[in-house]
Amino acid sequence: MADSSPTRRPLRSVCVYCGSSESTKPEYLDLATRFGAALAQRGLRLVYGGGAIGLMGRCAKAAHAGGGDVLGVMPRFLERREIVFDAVPHRMVDTMHERKMIMFQESDAFVVLPGGIGTLEEAVETLSWARLNLHAKPVVFLSEDDFWAPFFSLIQHTMEANLTPPSFGDVLAYARSIDACFDAIQARIAAPA
Ligand code: AMP
Repeated sequence: MADSSPTRRPLRSVCVYCGSSESTKPEYLDLATRFGAALAQRGLRLVYGGGAIGLMGRCAKAAHAGGGDVLGVMPRFLERREIVFDAVPHRMVDTMHERKMIMFQESDAFVVLPGGIGTLEEAVETLSWARLNLHAKPVVFLSEDDFWAPFFSLIQHTMEANLTPPSFGDVLAYARSIDACFDAIQARIAAPA
């Protein structure tokens, strides 16, 4: 499944996990748009779930409009519900597991924007693989209004109980701005795994 050794690769592709809802706060949709544009500006490829809706659609459209490369990974059974953004290349797959695997393999770092259960599921599985030392790719939670603070409190809670090691901070980070997010990724990519 994941990398056989936890070495880090140069930063070329960033996977974004984020919500598919259209009816969330406009600030979150705007953050997704600005993050997509920021990836393109930095010459980084966006890897994402492939849809044209919600934060993921905003992020992909902005990355594409900014001249950035984008790879979508879409399960066939979700093609209608999440609406493939067909201006960019896609890998069509059969299962959610295949989607997550390809998104993982094609990416050097992960950014988690505001999202719901699906976003959490993708992020937590990627973190759980890091916990098992299957990879050392950075996972940065980005929100400008502390959306992810409760999740970080929970992780902290598990650290205080010695159920998650403090060294987990080597992959995991919390950022309150897009610039801080890229700084956190670069710091972790540059550090020895
Ligand atoms: P949500 O945060 O619930 O809006 O979901 C965000 C994205 O995660 C959507 O594109 C979902 O299709 C996707 N998603 C939900 N569960 C999974 C899963 N188990 N594996 C991969 N993607 C998922």
